[in-house]
Amino acid sequence: MQSKSNVVFVIIDALRARNLSCYGYSKPTTPNIDLLARQGMLFEKAFSCTNVTDSSLTSIFSGKYPINHGIISHGIPLSDKKLKKISEIQFLHEILKSQGYLTLAVDWLKRWHKRNYDVYYDLFHGQQDPHGISKKRTIKYKMLKAAANAIRLLGMKKAYKRGKARLGYGREAETVSAVAMNLIKRNLKRKFFIFIHFWDTHAIYNPPQPYVDKFYHHEDTEQEDLGKVLDQIRNQGRREYLKEHLKEAPNTDYVIAQYDGAIAYADHELGKILNFLEDHGISEKTLFVLTSDHGESLTEHGILFDHHGLYDVSIHVPLIISGPGIPSGKRVDGLVQHVDLVPTLLDILNIPISNKNMFDGNSLVPLITDEVSSMRPAIFAEEAYYERKRAVRTNDYKYIVALSKRDAFCRCCQSIHGGQEELYNLRKDPDETQNIVGKDHKAKEAIERRLLDWVKLFDHPALEKSSTEKRTYSREEEKEVIERLRKLGYME
Ligand SMILES: [Zn+2]
Repeated sequence: MQSKSNVVFVIIDALRARNLSCYGYSKPTTPNIDLLARQGMLFEKAFSCTNVTDSSLTSIFSGKYPINHGIISHGIPLSDKKLKKISEIQFLHEILKSQGYLTLAVDWLKRWHKRNYDVYYDLFHGQQDPHGISKKRTIKYKMLKAAANAIRLLGMKKAYKRGKARLGYGREAETVSAVAMNLIKRNLKRKFFIFIHFWDTHAIYNPPQPYVDKFYHHEDTEQEDLGKVLDQIRNQGRREYLKEHLKEAPNTDYVIAQYDGAIAYADHELGKILNFLEDHGISEKTLFVLTSDHGESLTEHGILFDHHGLYDVSIHVPLIISGPGIPSGKRVDGLVQHVDLVPTLLDILNIPISNKNMFDGNSLVPLITDEVSSMRPAIFAEEAYYERKRAVRTNDYKYIVALSKRDAFCRCCQSIHGGQEELYNLRKDPDETQNIVGKDHKAKEAIERRLLDWVKLFDHPALEKSSTEKRTYSREEEKEVIERLRKLGYME
């Protein structure tokens, strides 16, 4: 199809599909994303391969399932074996770089995520990492770094003005979009790939107040005090963390309004980027991809404001592709998964794949060109942080299984969600509330077989044994990751 398109790849973190207006939500959270969907293609049933960022982004950009690339959880610490495996995998931006693309990123994950970008702007430290930049361009990028830092400081200043103790200064959407546009503006003449990561929809949700007010109507709610709801959380560390960070929220509806407000805020900033591309005359030659690394459970399944569990709320994500060669206003109903993304984009960009087996997914171009109406009978997911579970989902059923009895126990909630084995009839019970694993043996056997066959495809299933693995990267790096996880509320 297109060989000269730029690629803008946007991830809005922890964004579950069901809260976007273009995915049927009753509230107007996403006017700009809705427009993007009307200009391009929307995948109704897109799923992540896991429910945490490190693992999911690795799948998104490698086209491999966590069981294959080895990062099943947050990725600390990593064994030599895993590090070696990750070093041998090619990510999308590395493939594009080998095809002459300038590669740019705005994020704060670092480690293997930042590898080989021409410019990786680190939001966490407000500095640009000039990794991979030749000496010739150093001065130019030093200037860029100074400009980007100024933008970040401005964003922080605004946040202070709002009087908000915002989590992660310098990570808010207005800073992310400003840095992204700045990076693009300086490279308009180059063919570029940019990865833009918005974080506002990750708990604790804290968009500017007008965005919350838009979605919260006190008179509509008769909910009990949020403090009483949080008191029911057994895990003291988690309970105290949420109580501290949600002390201004009177009830769960308010927190959901904060989440919706965060979506609207990120959407607003995304709109600025779309207008920017239009104003600079490069919309027509830019492929735009929007998705999320995973979803979010707002109260469902007893999981409060987090994304563990393999229920649809935590793995059903938006996926929209727009740009040259992509039909307008098309909605695809077939199941698709993040591992399909890299092969799809390379196919669209007309970049040949050296080894057909390098991806676990397939190009979705036959869906784009209407050759077929669906491509996969099932999607697969797994998790290894608070629980150790795997799941398979068809259009009819979802089967979730813990790898052992102990693995069914949720370390976050200190309880068991659903049981060691769960089966849901999605046609009758789309919210996955009635576990029928003991009632429909035929369906259970068939779907369990599907999962076992899938696991068998991978010769060496990578099991997460983080507690027994040797530390293989510096204490400083590990400290940074732990700090990030702490800021996000994963660790006490
Ligand atoms: Zn839990």
